[in-house]
Amino acid sequence: MNLAELNSGEKGVIINVKGYGSFRKRIMEMGFVKGQLVEVVKKRPFHGPAEYNVMGYHVSLRPSEAYLIEVITQEMAAEMPEQPFEGIIDKDKLKISINNEGKNISVAFVGNPNCGKTSLFNFVSGAREHVGNYSGVTVEAKYNSYSYYGYNFNLVDLPGTYSLTAYTPEELYVRKHIFHNNPDIVVNVIDASNLERNLYLTSQLIDMDIKVIIALNMYDDLENSGAVLEIDKLSRLLGIPIIPTIATKGKGIPDLFSKIIDVYENRDPNVRHIHINYGKELEQSIRVIREQIKQDKKMMVAMSPRFLAIKLLEQDGHAIRFVSKHETSKEVLKTAYKEISRIEELLHEKGEAIITDAKYGFISGALKETLKVGKSKRWLHTNAIDKVLTHRFFGMPLFFTFMFLMFFSTFQLGSYPMGWIDAGVGVLNQFLKVTLPQGMFNDLITDGIINGIGSVLVFLPNILILFLFISFMEDTGYMARAAFMMDKIMHKIGLHGRSFIPLIMGFGCNVPAIMATRTIRNRTDRLLTILITPFMSCSARLPIYILFIGAFFPNNPTLVLIGLYLTGILLAVITAHFFNKTLFKSKEAPFVMELPPYRLPSTKSIVKHMWDKSAQYLQKVGGVILIAVIIIWALGYFPQNTKNSSELTSRLVEINLQISVASDELQQNNLTIQLNEIQNQVKREQLENSYLGRIGHFIEPIIRPLGFEWRTGIALLSGIAAKEVVVSTIGVLLQSESGNGTGDNRLVMRLREIKHDHGSAIGQPVFTPVTALAFLLFVLIYFPCIGVVSAIAKESGRWRWAFFMVGYTTTAAWLVAFFVNQIGSRLF
Ligand code: GDP
Ligand code: MG
Repeated sequence: MNLAELNSGEKGVIINVKGYGSFRKRIMEMGFVKGQLVEVVKKRPFHGPAEYNVMGYHVSLRPSEAYLIEVITQEMAAEMPEQPFEGIIDKDKLKISINNEGKNISVAFVGNPNCGKTSLFNFVSGAREHVGNYSGVTVEAKYNSYSYYGYNFNLVDLPGTYSLTAYTPEELYVRKHIFHNNPDIVVNVIDASNLERNLYLTSQLIDMDIKVIIALNMYDDLENSGAVLEIDKLSRLLGIPIIPTIATKGKGIPDLFSKIIDVYENRDPNVRHIHINYGKELEQSIRVIREQIKQDKKMMVAMSPRFLAIKLLEQDGHAIRFVSKHETSKEVLKTAYKEISRIEELLHEKGEAIITDAKYGFISGALKETLKVGKSKRWLHTNAIDKVLTHRFFGMPLFFTFMFLMFFSTFQLGSYPMGWIDAGVGVLNQFLKVTLPQGMFNDLITDGIINGIGSVLVFLPNILILFLFISFMEDTGYMARAAFMMDKIMHKIGLHGRSFIPLIMGFGCNVPAIMATRTIRNRTDRLLTILITPFMSCSARLPIYILFIGAFFPNNPTLVLIGLYLTGILLAVITAHFFNKTLFKSKEAPFVMELPPYRLPSTKSIVKHMWDKSAQYLQKVGGVILIAVIIIWALGYFPQNTKNSSELTSRLVEINLQISVASDELQQNNLTIQLNEIQNQVKREQLENSYLGRIGHFIEPIIRPLGFEWRTGIALLSGIAAKEVVVSTIGVLLQSESGNGTGDNRLVMRLREIKHDHGSAIGQPVFTPVTALAFLLFVLIYFPCIGVVSAIAKESGRWRWAFFMVGYTTTAAWLVAFFVNQIGSRLF
């Protein structure tokens, strides 16, 4: 609701003041600030100005101005929670504490990709958003808050963008955010070692006539290079305060926030609105269009007329759409087109190009006066390193060596702590089994929960090692090089380098990877990337690989592990190629790959990254996996009676009796072994007869040709929730297999021992290296987990694609496993 909609006598509480620059400033000075109560004293007919009472003053506003002041009713305001803001500032989800008003400052971080916005945001607010040394890491706005000097800052971290033309999704996103959410202050984060390019965005912010502060980030780089910048002078030239910062170390952040307060309270002497001079002809056109815009009060107050005029000269689609929503749109657009053709005739160039040139001219002029360029050591180093790492011949082998090292460490180094955790879980399980009273509760805790959770928990070290490598690659900037080297190959399959980053992120988790495709401009490219991402083997599948590789391929684990990942990549390539030929015929879009300078990652950021990953993993273990474990256990536990149970029980009693009268130790031992065997048989029969067993048998015919049996089927089915659940399900299912306590990995033993219990293969092991391989490939390819399926639906905008992917992947998995099993079992 806006103020213009209120009638005489009604009251409202202000929640937002839109508009820009001087208008906004004036209206706020009059007392129209967030949280204030306004009363409509008198409204006049025929859109005349109305009289309002705010802070005890009577003020008159035109409807076009009142329209920009958003209000809510007093009742709604009273219902507002009074805690400090956390969440999104917009009218639907408003959570501002009204009492605390005036002390709330909304701040948006805007800047080029990879200039340190997220680092700054994280440092200030204690958030843990993903940071990486390549562009396109942040794809949507992140919100958080921060308190300083009695002010509450509502911060938003926006995706990186080079410009504010409405050309890429992220540019549009940032621009829309600035217009619709009207942050009180925009913090323009700038990479100090790359001023010229970064200031281009600043020049666009200047046109918009909003309150901007520059965070001159990576100031350490600037200083190290020996460059000297006269900050104060540059600040005066731009009319924008500049604060040097080092986001990773938190340097300069208190100054930045003090400055935000100063600017917000209009206390900073350097703040002024400057006009970049676009040259005589263009300035004349701007003037003509601006005059036309000013005829329409509504249009004039909603957006800076100069900015709008410039955007119209650039033929910016969104500016045109904005204008067409207004009454005088015809006149304004007509004037604009007339001016555009005049300019083009006169200067033989498009308005857009002239404006860009003028902006760069302005920037280089400003820098010439203030910057003494040093020798950027960072780039010297970077170039030297790149000579080796992206070498024409050695680049790729080095990349693969690095990959080998990554998987080798993941498997080999991880196996030590894995053994310790496994032993610990075993001891705990045994202890509880004895101490807790016998019965269903005991079974649930030990056979169910500890068994299931324990079997997944042991893989935490492996996951951590994998992420250690990934975050090292990301933070140093090597990941961007990998993308660069892959660009050629990506082109061959009809994609380009931009798709590579999301794909690499897919090795961590497919869900953020699919979200990261938002940086891809071309829609079909984007969809294609979304559809092949699930073939990137995510870290949730790692526990399954490690378990099975440990059990069946102990001689060359690293190779098998790499083989699986490569198979995934190969399938992605084939799929992309196939889709490109059939579903979409995408055109190649030109693309420039960013190669940021190499940076030494800070231990802190790596430790933090790994800590976050373990927290996420543990959360998953305590959440989805725990629930799945309990369900699987219960389905396997009930019903309790089996058809042979009475017979087996009587044999048990019999043997027990024999043990008690057995004379020598040998006989006693033999009987104990028999006893264990029968006890296990009871459990096995009970499991087979349970609900879970019935489900397993029901689906068995489908997976029999792959060499799998009913228990394997259940494990695969349970993996739909999350892939780790496959392992915990196997843990629960196999607890009745003997494989007891010998060696340090009980589950591995059990996997080797489990036998077919019916059908033609009865008595033979379920898993041979061939069926194990078929199983691993099936796991790699089949049904992406529920989270991924819904991410596909959300990001592609159609459920149809999500269902399609479920069918496509599962069919592919079946076919691959089928051929591996059929061919493999004939060969070996
Ligand atoms: P964003 O894309 O703008 O969000 O940038 P990120 O916050 O993801 O940071 C990009 C890279 O720059 C990361 O590798 C950071 O560790 C690094 N970085 C951020 N701020 C600084 C800084 O002030 N100095 C240095 N040397 N590196 C920084
Ligand atoms: Mg970011």
